[in-house]
Order: sequence, then structure tokens, then C-alpha cells
Amino acid sequence: MYRYRCRSCGYTILAGDESDYKCPICRSIMIYLEMENDKGMKYECPSCEAVFFTDEKIEPYKCAKCNFSFVDWKKRRKEKF
Ligand SMILES: [Zn+2]
Ligand SMILES: [Zn+2]
Repeated sequence: MYRYRCRSCGYTILAGDESDYKCPICRSIMIYLEMENDKGMKYECPSCEAVFFTDEKIEPYKCAKCNFSFVDWKKRRKEKF
């Protein structure tokens, strides 16, 4: 896993590949930090199938790769069940 940190708000994620990730909170560019083991909550994007982890207290708002919104998706799922 590779740890990435947002250049503007400092949010960090762990992802399995080297790619251009966008901050799941504020959509800024994320910078590669270091190699680490899997940590925290796993998030799988239902839209682009990107997988990333975060050990931040705040849930990711958006996917780290595409524009998919986890927040709206969770809300919708809650309404359904
Ligand atoms: Zn950010
Ligand atoms: Zn996505």
C-alpha cells in the first residue's frame, strides 16, 4: 500500500497502486508519502472500482479516483433499507 496525503487539507489515504489520486474530502492533488501496510477502513468505489483505505476519523466524501460521492451513496442506501 502507498500512503498519500492531500496537499491542501492533509487528509491521508492508502492505495494499492501509484496513480493520480484526488483528495476524497476537498478534491486537491494527493502526494505520495511512503509505503505502508493496509490500515483503517477500506473503501471500494462502486463506480470506478478503485480501492483505497483511510485511517482518518472523517469518512471520505468522494472517491479518490473518480467523482463518485460516497456520502450520497450511503444516504441513498439508508433510505432504501
Ligand atoms: Zn484535501
Ligand atoms: Zn471511483
